[in-house]
Amino acid sequence: MRLDLRDIIHRPGEVKTFAYELDLSGVCHFRERPFSRPVKVSGTVRNAAGALELSGEAETVLDVACDRCLKPITVELSVPVETLLAEELEGEEDDEIVLLDKGAVELDELFSTACILALDSKHLCREDCKGLCPTCGKDLNEGPCNCGKELDPRLAVLAKLLDNKEGSQDKDEEA
Ligand SMILES: [Zn+2]
Ligand SMILES: [Zn+2]
Repeated sequence: MRLDLRDIIHRPGEVKTFAYELDLSGVCHFRERPFSRPVKVSGTVRNAAGALELSGEAETVLDVACDRCLKPITVELSVPVETLLAEELEGEEDDEIVLLDKGAVELDELFSTACILALDSKHLCREDCKGLCPTCGKDLNEGPCNCGKELDPRLAVLAKLLDNKEGSQDKDEEA
């Protein structure tokens, strides 16, 4: 959305609010599409003694997979955006200033960039998620797997036979 600020650019003290829904469902991140739901964007632009201050927030619920067990989970995302807006750059420290285009700011660009940058953190279904066994792929949150503890059932039968054989040999020796 383009927010036209021409009516407040030269009027100190004026405030303009905005609220709309941003569609980021096409954004692909690590082979996922986390923004399956609309992103709610809201905020204000304030003319503070001639400087335009944008203060806003993007909120949504992400659909992602747990980084350890791959279970689908939802994560609440809230991204604050604070920046200065200007019609043209004057000073050297321009990094934090967003330039207006014909007196308007492109909110989509500003908020989608902020949302995508905010995706970097890891997502876990719970703090102590045990993840998947690297050998058999079992979800270890549901209980331990058999890797390294018990043998494959078919091998277990064989192991039992061997045990019995040893047992019978012992008896033979005793006899
Ligand atoms: Zn998990
Ligand atoms: Zn396993």
